[in-house]
Amino acid sequence: MPELPEEFIKRIQKRRGEDFPAFLRALELPQRKKGLHVNTLKISSEEFRKISLFPLKEPVPWAKDCFYHDEEKAGGDLFHFAGLFYLQEPSAACAAPLLDVRPGERVLDLCAAPGGKTAQLASALGGKGLLVSNEIDGRRAEILSQNVERLGISNCAVTCAPPEKLSERFPAYFDKILVDAPCSGEGMFRKEPNAVKEWSPENVRRCALRQREILEHAAKMLAGGGRLVYSTCTFAEEEDEWQIEEFLKSHPEFELLSMEKLLPHEIEGEGHFAAALYKKEGARARGREAVPERCAAAERAFYDFGGRCLETLPEGAIATLKDGRMYLLPGGAPDLRGIRLLRLGTELGEWDGNRFKPAHALALSSAVRAKRRFETERETAERYLRGETLEAPPGAEDYAAICFEGYPLGWAKAVRGMFKNHLPKALRKYAKN
Ligand code: SAM
Repeated sequence: MPELPEEFIKRIQKRRGEDFPAFLRALELPQRKKGLHVNTLKISSEEFRKISLFPLKEPVPWAKDCFYHDEEKAGGDLFHFAGLFYLQEPSAACAAPLLDVRPGERVLDLCAAPGGKTAQLASALGGKGLLVSNEIDGRRAEILSQNVERLGISNCAVTCAPPEKLSERFPAYFDKILVDAPCSGEGMFRKEPNAVKEWSPENVRRCALRQREILEHAAKMLAGGGRLVYSTCTFAEEEDEWQIEEFLKSHPEFELLSMEKLLPHEIEGEGHFAAALYKKEGARARGREAVPERCAAAERAFYDFGGRCLETLPEGAIATLKDGRMYLLPGGAPDLRGIRLLRLGTELGEWDGNRFKPAHALALSSAVRAKRRFETERETAERYLRGETLEAPPGAEDYAAICFEGYPLGWAKAVRGMFKNHLPKALRKYAKN
């Protein structure tokens, strides 16, 4: 880790008081423990513990279905590819549970990329209700969208919009909102050396101003009776406790439910701050729903495919969008016209007027189960992830989900005794880890 800025040390000394030496010692140690969140949309924690290819350690105390682990290459693990878990810094898992999300609610994750908290919120919704995961940065939004696909989240809209654009469209719309704000990242100093290099008192002030604006828009989008959780991974009071104090002064319709700060000399994890707020007044707005453009011929093609290759046919609206791609939309999906949308519900596949080609997202979906499956050994599964053609068993035909331990990795199509690999080319790199 680069040397800590002198001014940062002075500030901390002044603000932390007695526990300053212990705090500083902890900051100078390397990061100790890594964490992961089990994707309960696909598997329970108990089950995952039994089949995990590397040992899981003790549960993270402040977050359900999160565990410590020591695996360096967990990102290249077959079950990671199959979307059974999300790698998440243990302390970062503290914010989402404070939102107390229940199945069926409308939830907004306003600053969502790369998607750790989206993974937790989606698990809490259990496939029911709506999750809008938004990220302002286009490149980061793409990564978020890939993670939503890998985790098989069926009721999520991934958007790429500035908060002001969303708040104009969705006043008093959401039951729960998470603002995991961009911050000066002091809590990540041990993990991300760049955070140390970029730190300055001016940057702390700039971050605090930006967070205030984001919070204003979040407040507008929250329905009365709703809950807002604000979190950062910094220690700076300007961005944490003082930010919340200022917000409450100018928003008497909100009250504080709880506030917590995780400090690296007190817990196993990096630094994190989270505050839960309750909005007392106002009603929930109805909002406009999306009206899917349907195409009977495309739907028939999909249902034909489903009859042959899928065990559970999804209920709900199926739309053929302009580019010939079909989606299973979450119930009550809002009208998102005019907002950059990267993903809505589950992409089912493409229909070119003659043929239906299933999408990778359909194989990984937690809401749909493939009937035609080809169970593979670890070595064959890894060959599939490298993009290789596999030998098909006698009599194999059509599309089949290539599975490892029963969990789909993607599609292959049986052609003359071989399985042609249909894993998207962009994903084949994962297998090289
Ligand atoms: N919640 C994410 C997770 O759990 O994986 C981490 C979010 S990160 C702490 C903050 C995010 O806010 C970044 O992805 C950043 O691009 C985004 N951001 C930056 N400026 C923003 C702004 N003005 N409004 C909204 N989001 C912003």
